[in-house]
Amino acid sequence: MCINCVEAAFPERGKTCLDGGSYLLNFKGCFECGKREMVQVVEKKYKSDSEDKETVKYSHQCFCGHYIAGHKYKFEVTPNFEQEYEMNCLLCGVGENTVEAFQPKQCDNL
Ligand SMILES: [Zn+2]
Ligand SMILES: [Zn+2]
Ligand SMILES: [Zn+2]
Repeated sequence: MCINCVEAAFPERGKTCLDGGSYLLNFKGCFECGKREMVQVVEKKYKSDSEDKETVKYSHQCFCGHYIAGHKYKFEVTPNFEQEYEMNCLLCGVGENTVEAFQPKQCDNL
């Protein structure tokens, strides 16, 4: 992790949870080479224990090879069938979102 390359460390992103790409607005420029170009996503790894659980990890790296940040994303379906999303990254920030389960409504009138 390199705090010198970002505007803010772990910014609060509300419900935004990215499982790919980079939050370039928070990229100040590479501390190593001084360039502020596209950030590469490298070493992307998916891990899925079941259909209800998935984690994605990858690294943000400058084209010069300088390592900027490690990115973590998690998706999980809770026992209540809510979908929970989580993101944690120095560059992209911290986000959390819960999507309530769709409950088919009983039709009482019929
Ligand atoms: Zn840096
Ligand atoms: Zn660089
Ligand atoms: Zn990130």
